[in-house]
Amino acid sequence: MTADRVVIAGAGQGGLQAAISLRQAGFGGAITLVGAEPGLPYQRPPLSKAYLPAGKAEALVLRPASFFASKDIAYLPGTVVEEIDRNAGELRLAGPDAPKRLGYGHLILATGTRNLRPPVDGLEHACGLRTLADADRLRARLATPQRIAVIGGGFIGLEFAAVARKLGHAVEVIEAAPRLMARAVSALTAERFARWHRAAGTGLHLGTAAASVDAGGVSLADGRRIDAGFVLLAAGVRPNAELAGAAGLETGNGIRVDAQLLTSDPQISALGDCACFPDPRSGRMVRLESVQAATDHARLIALRLAKGAAEPYAALPWFWSDQGDLKLQIAGLAGPEAREEAVADGVVARFDAQGLAAVETVGRPAIHMKARKLLAAEAPATLDVLRDVAAA
Ligand SMILES: Cc1cc2nc3c(=O)[nH]c(=O)nc-3n(C[C@H](O)[C@H](O)[C@H](O)COP(=O)(O)OP(=O)(O)OC[C@H]3O[C@@H](n4cnc5c(N)ncnc54)[C@H](O)[C@@H]3O)c2cc1C
Repeated sequence: MTADRVVIAGAGQGGLQAAISLRQAGFGGAITLVGAEPGLPYQRPPLSKAYLPAGKAEALVLRPASFFASKDIAYLPGTVVEEIDRNAGELRLAGPDAPKRLGYGHLILATGTRNLRPPVDGLEHACGLRTLADADRLRARLATPQRIAVIGGGFIGLEFAAVARKLGHAVEVIEAAPRLMARAVSALTAERFARWHRAAGTGLHLGTAAASVDAGGVSLADGRRIDAGFVLLAAGVRPNAELAGAAGLETGNGIRVDAQLLTSDPQISALGDCACFPDPRSGRMVRLESVQAATDHARLIALRLAKGAAEPYAALPWFWSDQGDLKLQIAGLAGPEAREEAVADGVVARFDAQGLAAVETVGRPAIHMKARKLLAAEAPATLDVLRDVAAA
């Protein structure tokens, strides 16, 4: 079978974008989009933000049902890819309306992530927040006044905490690391957000892990007890790489791909949250959890398949998080060793051995956009240039 038949496993942000971009790039072959979740593909970012208090599920949908017919894309919702048979070039599927087997010329793995379940007793008493169904369950819980414990002080836990607090609930956040968002932002930015959450009335318990969860709350490793009517588990994710691993593809912090986003099998690509790829700037193998990475990966793969383009992946990473009044935007990608410099109010730069690696802004969207340009330039900016940009 040739690559005139593309199958995409996973119908989230990146999987759908791959189908869209294939048609935009003029790909005329068959496209099948296989997704485990029911319904139409939707965007996840609002699930921890505007959707919780008052959102409409229809507004999350990325493309209407008519799109799939008009672009001749076969969409199989509620269908799980259970196995990749690389010798036969076929997938084994499970789902009420799905064929048992489906052949592919090229396979795109866009299987995303699932919530990490740390070794904490009683996690069956905690809710997660990854899917629309999770968000709907949480909305129902938020309808009546609650004491809420959030395990995990990363983006999703804090976005949820900000919404819940605004709705008048009592909220306590438990974070094992000594500061918030430790994987993603500088200490200066983390401290600014910690101040904001505390001022909003949210309790922050940093540097202490949850030891166990039960129907009445969370017991901490340091012996303290947080009483709660419900508990949100937001302690990070794991890439869905088992399908690829079982098929003998290289895995390790996700499905490993090269600069063309090809796996160790030239008939299989991987993208988005499940893919571990070489960061164009540092060469480090990284795995990003962002809409930007999923969509830019999808566009590159589509161009390669439709036009034979062989440009290496070079997109600049960027991220955002909305927590109450605070709008965080990050341009670039800083490793854990990066040092930080305050540039101006709400602007922090991070530098590594190669120079400027990332710029974090809070409520400064124009500077974020300028930082993206500076970081994408041949010779990235110095601290002085950044200070001039922030002052302009
Ligand atoms: C609550 C929340 C808030 C977020 N907020 C932001 C934000 O503010 N900014 C930002 O940039 N990013 C945010 N993200 C992250 C962003 O949504 C992801 O990075 C993005 O969705 C990744 O796209 P993806 O296609 O790789 O994976 P996903 O969109 O997660 O899609 C993967 C899909 O694959 C399906 N799947 C898995 N295995 C199989 C299988 N074997 N067979 C068939 N289907 C399968 C899954 O069911 C899922 O539907 C947020 C995520 C969440 C959960």
